Amino acid sequence: MNDAPLTPPVLTARGLTKSYGPTRALAGVDLAIRPGESVAVMGPSGSGKTTLLHVLSGIIVPDAGQVTLAGADGTRHELTGLNEEHRARLRRERLGFVFQEGLLLPELTARENVAMPLMLNGAHRKAAEQTAARWLESLGLAGMGDRRPGELSGGQRQRVAIARAQAVEPDVVFADEPTGALDSDTSDAVLASLISSTVSRGRTLVVVTHDPSVAAACSRLVRVRDGRIESDTAQRPAQPASEGTVR
Ligand code: ADP
Ligand code: MG
Repeated sequence: MNDAPLTPPVLTARGLTKSYGPTRALAGVDLAIRPGESVAVMGPSGSGKTTLLHVLSGIIVPDAGQVTLAGADGTRHELTGLNEEHRARLRRERLGFVFQEGLLLPELTARENVAMPLMLNGAHRKAAEQTAARWLESLGLAGMGDRRPGELSGGQRQRVAIARAQAVEPDVVFADEPTGALDSDTSDAVLASLISSTVSRGRTLVVVTHDPSVAAACSRLVRVRDGRIESDTAQRPAQPASEGTVR
């Protein structure tokens, strides 16, 4: 685990608590995630996984505790000390997200969906669409850039969502049950794309999952129960299933 001399964490959480009325979603979480780690977060439904992901990524602020993001560009930000506008900018520029239902914009083509965050970050349309096309190609979607989400399969849509998350070159990619809505073969292929597109670039992945094969393909397994970390183990990542088939 964290006993060797290692690079400093990209993401550090200390003493996180978060309640919704009487429900304690996070009951004191400490976690340090280093660049290049792929962290699977598992736990029963309602144990606080999504809340943890949202706090780590600055989507919500905890009741207490701190989250610090130390980017590859050398900047350090205490997310928990920033206002919503500033957090939103950091999310857009430094973090990537893949949710269960890709959340693509239905009116835009696949290429435009991937280009959108790049343009929000200031890239010109042409450059953004070229970058988007390269990412779609590397995720096995060459030739599908002009299709709208409704013209793609569930697995293809999730690959577009992965391309969109990766295109901004984020410090950390967060995925919340990214394959939960897919059949298991498609899910394996999408997952393999997600892990390889993140880790092969030395980036960091935090993925909430119920799927043991997703967890096995990660370098670290964090188990959450009742808003706390129940166990945290380094592991040798299993080779993910083939990325080959696009369904
Ligand atoms: P998980 O992702 O592990 O299923 P969540 O983090 O979504 O768990 O939820 C943890 C607990 O907090 C659950 O009891 C859930 O009902 C509650 N919770 C989560 N989000 C909200 C919310 N916005 N309002 C009220 N309760 C919430
Ligand atoms: Mg959840």
